[in-house]
Amino acid sequence: MNDKTLLTRLVHSGRHSPVEGGIPVNPPVVRMSTVLFDSVAHMQDIRARRGSERLLSYGARGNVTGFALEDLITELEGGYRTRLFPTGLAAIAQMFIALLEPGDHLLIGDSVYDPVRNFARHFFDRFGIRYDYFAADGHDLEEKILPSTRMIYLECPGSVVYELCDLPKIAAIARPRGILVAADNSWGAGVLYRPLALGADISVSAATKYLGGHADVMMGAATCTEALWPRLGACCDAMGVAVSPDDSWLVLRGARSLAARLQMHQEHALQVAKWLQNHEAVEAVFCPALPEHPGHALWRRDFSGTNGLISVSLKDRSRQTAADVIDRLELFGIGASWGGFESLATLSEMTAIRSVTDWRECPAVIRLHIGLEDPSALIADLARTLALVPRRAKAEAL
Ligand SMILES: *Cc1c(COP(=O)(O)O)cnc(C)c1O
Repeated sequence: MNDKTLLTRLVHSGRHSPVEGGIPVNPPVVRMSTVLFDSVAHMQDIRARRGSERLLSYGARGNVTGFALEDLITELEGGYRTRLFPTGLAAIAQMFIALLEPGDHLLIGDSVYDPVRNFARHFFDRFGIRYDYFAADGHDLEEKILPSTRMIYLECPGSVVYELCDLPKIAAIARPRGILVAADNSWGAGVLYRPLALGADISVSAATKYLGGHADVMMGAATCTEALWPRLGACCDAMGVAVSPDDSWLVLRGARSLAARLQMHQEHALQVAKWLQNHEAVEAVFCPALPEHPGHALWRRDFSGTNGLISVSLKDRSRQTAADVIDRLELFGIGASWGGFESLATLSEMTAIRSVTDWRECPAVIRLHIGLEDPSALIADLARTLALVPRRAKAEAL
């Protein structure tokens, strides 16, 4: 499927109405817990089929607005079906719970969204699941596979510094061994990267980020192959996983403009990234669309664009200098998450969020989310705050 098809799907998917007459352009919010049946036999028939078919049976088993959003994400990701979760992290956690069993071994990419490490510490040990981290570029993956390895979980590009791995190659290693491949596709938002087409079995993402796009709703999604759907769906049903129709509607509304926003995020981020690369206080700019990025060739092969995320390390490596730069910015908010229309800056302490690769040489990284503001204003803001860095370093040396 080419990008033009994706553009059309973003606008048209999930649009249907159960009522005769015209169809609303965007599906309306349908709030519901109980639904009413014609007879006991009707209710029993729907309940007997709801495990395998998508039917309205009770609010905890899905709602009309949520189904419309599921359809849109399924079409973007190119999967069989999608399940929605209250947050992106919940999608990842539930995916592990649904697909792993005590005694299984799991390989986790070193560049995953940091709270996944926290989940691993809290859950896997207690439930008898072993895990190891592999290098974010996947070079040591094959040697870390054990006879009990059942899943490889990766994030591409990785969080904060955007390491790339070769997903088709990893899938080719995993498939003959019966190992599942799961990918976090929050960065690609179902548009820039399509893990299922590249060989993954399941794609999870934080719809909180670019799909929602307006920093006002939390949502997670997991899209998988037909083979995996019964396990994912049954486990989520058993655990009462459901999302609200209002939140689904917000994400659906945001998603309609996803491609247009991503295009603008990309243009602005590249302008800022190129300007930063030439700044005397800057050591490195991390963005897979820059030719200097170590994963650039893979990015060109597997991705259709970049987004608003870029990160920066300074020649002055102190954590305090990086924090001061962030604190002095005026147009960049200081806050978690990304993917909204606004620019953000945060400090990432690399040694705390990587365990395979040694980041002690570059411990403090400033992560920027470049929003839809005027990029020249963002550059002026960065110029003003970065101008203070060399002077500070000099003053300290004296
Ligand atoms: C933010 C994020 C998540 C978690 O999403 P939430 O909706 O905030 O729970 C998962 N993966 C990645 C890569 C993220 O950036």
